[in-house]
Amino acid sequence: MSEPNKQGAQPPVKIGHYILGQTLGVGTFGKVKIGEHQLTKHKVAVKILNRQKIKSLDVVGKIRREIQNLKLFRHPHIIKLYQVISTPTDIFMIMEYVSGGELFDYIVKHGKLQEHEARRFFQQIISGVDYCHRHMIVHRDLKPENLLLDHNMHVKIADFGLSNMMQDGEFLRTSCGSPNYAAPEVISGKLYAGPEVDIWSCGVILYALLCGTLPFDDEHVPTLFRKIKSGIFPIPEYLNKTVVSLLCSMLQIDPMKRATIEDIKKHEWFQKECPAYLFPSPVEQDSSVIDTDAVREVCDKFGVQDSEVHNALLSGDPHDQLAIAYHLIIDNKRIADEAAKAELKDFYVAGSPPPVNMSPNPDTMGYSPLKPHPERIAPLRPWPAITNPSVGEKGRVKRAKWHLGIRSQSKPNDIMMEVYRAMKALGYEWKVINPYHVRVRHKNEIHNRYVMMSLQLYQVDYKSYLLDFKSLSHEEVDPNTIGNLPALDVPTPVQSGPGVSNIKSKGHHTMEFFEMCAALIIQLAR
Ligand code: ADP
Repeated sequence: MSEPNKQGAQPPVKIGHYILGQTLGVGTFGKVKIGEHQLTKHKVAVKILNRQKIKSLDVVGKIRREIQNLKLFRHPHIIKLYQVISTPTDIFMIMEYVSGGELFDYIVKHGKLQEHEARRFFQQIISGVDYCHRHMIVHRDLKPENLLLDHNMHVKIADFGLSNMMQDGEFLRTSCGSPNYAAPEVISGKLYAGPEVDIWSCGVILYALLCGTLPFDDEHVPTLFRKIKSGIFPIPEYLNKTVVSLLCSMLQIDPMKRATIEDIKKHEWFQKECPAYLFPSPVEQDSSVIDTDAVREVCDKFGVQDSEVHNALLSGDPHDQLAIAYHLIIDNKRIADEAAKAELKDFYVAGSPPPVNMSPNPDTMGYSPLKPHPERIAPLRPWPAITNPSVGEKGRVKRAKWHLGIRSQSKPNDIMMEVYRAMKALGYEWKVINPYHVRVRHKNEIHNRYVMMSLQLYQVDYKSYLLDFKSLSHEEVDPNTIGNLPALDVPTPVQSGPGVSNIKSKGHHTMEFFEMCAALIIQLAR
């Protein structure tokens, strides 16, 4: 694959729908180039691995499942892998692009960081490392060059999973070019590299963040190795005593005595100002209940039968790739549900679009603990989950109920943007339940009463969505939610006690609901 010629003699190099541009960097495993989607201009980073150079990269065998699983990784501080394209000569890994450069350059430019800044970066790194370890991936090559920054100065860990694609011996040989971050057992040539090796590297990174220098350094490699194996490193005067205890527990030469992620999470220095989103509450896993939707998703992704997934789950082997995929899918669902619940706290009236940036470009999406991270937005739920339909022959779902809604093949975010625009034009007020579910109200000027409905976008089948309109009686609206609404001019049925006014207004409400739907549909059709 050659680079586009400056004189324009050659057409631009295209990988999938992405046009390759300038080289972002050259890493251990190959070049990384920027790619731009030919239509949407969405930017990605494309890592190019030359098959000649990496003979041990086995993408046809068991590794293929591992790559499939990397694509399921969703974490706000891990570079997302979108797609892997294989050609006879190269392997192209299409990934999330971030524009803030390497954490390494940031340290070089700014010197040692302020303690709170170092802690913020370190908390994000540990959150990402914890996520990968829980899903059976050890990085093995953590260093500030692999820690990138996005435009909001959030850390994004690159290359997770890549080392696992290499045969151990091969990897160790290639990685020893810069061993400053390698654990003593790694440089001693022990082939087994478990999660403890990442903890050691995180200890070196924390030291580099706080001191602007490395704990173990020497130009003479054998001396450097001796220093690493001794585990003795200088402790500058200015370091806070509590962080010194954390560093010492992470840079412990005996891997058995080294701090675990749990130890780090419990450490008082670490806990200070630690955002809750970094460590969501553990999943209550009832292994006797198998989520059939998740099993189906694994079958679709891996082209296997249900029974194979069930066997993988029953085998109890935590490293089985099908079992890992199943747990990743469950985890993604749970995170999405949590994000949806968190949204309940925020109320937005018409005139301001929801603060969740729904741009499809991950690099343009902001993130704060209050805004669910784009990767944590609730997925669209398939019909069976919400309508409780009867299941027909061959598992096909029959829908008994009728629905009032609009079907669309546009992208879900685009549909919702249109909906927000239409609601704004009509002067409706709304509350965002999650990016695909809003509760809407509009005051009927004649009766001086609010009419309420819910709008929810569902995925009906591949690339087809249905915007469902549901009438909400006042009973269905949580009084706590209503309490957050702006002051009302007239008492609503809820305020005058649930039930009574609602019975009286039911007939009117249906007509008013239809009127509201009609107005919205007409507005959307414009
Ligand atoms: P290494 O092998 O040294 O870890 P990589 O191969 O991951 O490095 O990447 C080489 C360089 O390319 C990085 O240091 C970084 O500057 C750039 N780069 C890699 N991935 C991305 C990305 N997702 N977004 C932006 N730049 C990237």
